[in-house]
Amino acid sequence: GLGRAAGFSSQAAAEATGEVGADGEVFEFQAEVGRVMDIIVNSLYSNKDVFLRELVSNAADACDKKRFLALTEGEAEPEPMNLRISTDKDARTLTIEDNGVGMLKEELQENLGRIARSGTANFVKELNSGEADVSLIGQFGVGFYSAFLVANKLEVYSRSFKATPEEQKTWKWSSTGGSYSLKEAPDTEFFGKQSGTKIVLHLREEAQEYLDSGKLSDLLKKYSEFITFPIELFNEKV
Ligand code: ADP
Ligand code: MG
Repeated sequence: GLGRAAGFSSQAAAEATGEVGADGEVFEFQAEVGRVMDIIVNSLYSNKDVFLRELVSNAADACDKKRFLALTEGEAEPEPMNLRISTDKDARTLTIEDNGVGMLKEELQENLGRIARSGTANFVKELNSGEADVSLIGQFGVGFYSAFLVANKLEVYSRSFKATPEEQKTWKWSSTGGSYSLKEAPDTEFFGKQSGTKIVLHLREEAQEYLDSGKLSDLLKKYSEFITFPIELFNEKV
């Protein structure tokens, strides 16, 4: 084929709205993303917990990818990797952070603005036929969007392990569902010194239970069975 990178830049350009707001340049989601978000929100509302499994597995995947890159591409020795989960009851946010591979600006657009795999049609078909358990969304490559089950606003800060020193920028991706924005976020602090991703979920009124550390630690116990990196849960200081 023509190579993904070449195809990507024209598609991303097509999704740019030309608008610039307080959160940066505004982009439309690929149409399929909107469809998937509707399906997720309408069919998984009674199974909201899955968002945490999806975001935790993405964070662990990112750590695996960094380790793999370091081994195969001769990148720097990776720092010890782990996941950090914390809440802020005043701001009503839940934050999931990893010091994995991170994402370049183009990767944020490609990964969090489009559906890379052609799984959408199958996802919709299987859901309609009642064959697929909706909690299996992870298998369709759309797990990230399940964050909108519990959040009405998402902020993703990311810095790539693959970036050259000149490219070592932190990008902020943010969305309330309809479109997304991208801007450089120079002041962001990560616990990872090399790279990482921090996802801040602004919890919906009906999803405030995810501020509860007991609830979170119960869920994490369940999901961390398959995660090979340490998960730290920071209880809010009261
Ligand atoms: P999948 O994990 O099946 O590929 P997702 O919808 O869960 O699908 O995530 C889409 C993509 O977004 C991932 O493949 C990955 O490239 C990127 N991504 C998501 N979360 C992270 C993260 N914490 N760090 C780095 N990349 C991420
Ligand atoms: Mg995933």
